[in-house]
Amino acid sequence: MKAALAYAHRNRGRFVEEIAELAAIPSVSSDRPQARRAATWLAARLRRAGLGVRIVDTPGNPLVVGGWGRRPDRPTVVLYGHYDVRPAGDLRQWRTPPFQPVVHNGFMLGRGVSDDKGQLLAHVAAVESWLRGGGTLPVNVRLLLDGEEEVGSPHLAGFLDRWGVTPSVAVISDTAMHSPSVPALTVSLRGVVRLAVTVRRPGTDLHSGTYGGRVVDPGRQLCRLIASLRVHGTSMTISRLRAGRGDGVLAAEASARLEFRLSPGVSPDAVIRSLRRSVAGVEGASARVVLARPPVRVPRTGWAIDAARVASRHGFGHEPVFQGSGGGIAAAGLFADRGIPVLLLGFAVPDNRMHAPNERLSLAAFARSVDTCIALLPALADRRPPAPPHRQAARLTPALSPRDRSAAPVPGLSPDFDRRTRRNPPRAPTRRSKSG
Ligand SMILES: [Zn+2]
Repeated sequence: MKAALAYAHRNRGRFVEEIAELAAIPSVSSDRPQARRAATWLAARLRRAGLGVRIVDTPGNPLVVGGWGRRPDRPTVVLYGHYDVRPAGDLRQWRTPPFQPVVHNGFMLGRGVSDDKGQLLAHVAAVESWLRGGGTLPVNVRLLLDGEEEVGSPHLAGFLDRWGVTPSVAVISDTAMHSPSVPALTVSLRGVVRLAVTVRRPGTDLHSGTYGGRVVDPGRQLCRLIASLRVHGTSMTISRLRAGRGDGVLAAEASARLEFRLSPGVSPDAVIRSLRRSVAGVEGASARVVLARPPVRVPRTGWAIDAARVASRHGFGHEPVFQGSGGGIAAAGLFADRGIPVLLLGFAVPDNRMHAPNERLSLAAFARSVDTCIALLPALADRRPPAPPHRQAARLTPALSPRDRSAAPVPGLSPDFDRRTRRNPPRAPTRRSKSG
């Protein structure tokens, strides 16, 4: 590990420059060309780190998958991050241009520097430091970089189902620390339900002076509907509220997007039931569920948690604090659903301004997070998962058929990584899953 740490310390300046380079690509989830640009940049970056790489196309933005699997006796660790970012929002609220990252007072400022480009690059830096500095990795690694996290990762489940890799643990670094010097293990994530609600009355827009009071106003009806939606253990945010196209007009239609964040224990069904009741009570109302994802709880004990403790002591001189997060990460639920332990080890400082103007990354915390990621890999190797079920063990070390053996191995890729991903390109899912 010494050689890896020394390599990381020698290359710290470059690692920081690379965050700025990636954050300068405005890879907003809805901007397909820019998302692809970021994916291509990352693929080249992972190759330089010494990994085998594939860009996996989906009906949306591609996934970037990097792999190294030359230790069949060791666990396979997935390191998940996402390269898509939230839109910059109101530019007047930014002190510096969102996609021209700058360093000021020990912080890098720019959209995506904390969420999640800086955090994912900490893992890339750690993997590179092991491979280029030490010549090997203590575990098998799959870097899984999502281009659609900010829109609920609609194509990740389909990929995981066809991937053919069953990792021992999924490490997700996309959350905040307890304080700038004390890391945190997030043990609960709020769920989310996003709804599109519309109220329509027959006919066209009308003169509000002539018709006001005589025909229903969809705007007022929509407001009534929204006010009647109350679900215990949730918070609601309203966006894109639209009714009418100006003064003096009685609109024919009003619409809004609603987002509920769900505390642990609250199911998306509770929100959808309340929605059904409210929609039934308002004439001309209809609604569509855009996204529904239950809350996630992560156990506070286990071999992977122990490894994270060791790594945090190493990188930060502190054990991580357990905390809940208001945000949601679809990948956490998808891994948990598949029986894969999840480690939510985040490196964004608490006032990181994720999703808000003037997002920032603490460079001191970044340097420590790279050390932590370096220390995490041998800590996971030492602790090993409990003996996996028979089926899982078989999937981790698949027996190679003679035909597979003759296939030319791609440097850096384990046989299972290469073979399965090539044979099973992800297909378009037939319908967005409820947990998606
Ligand atoms: Zn994120």
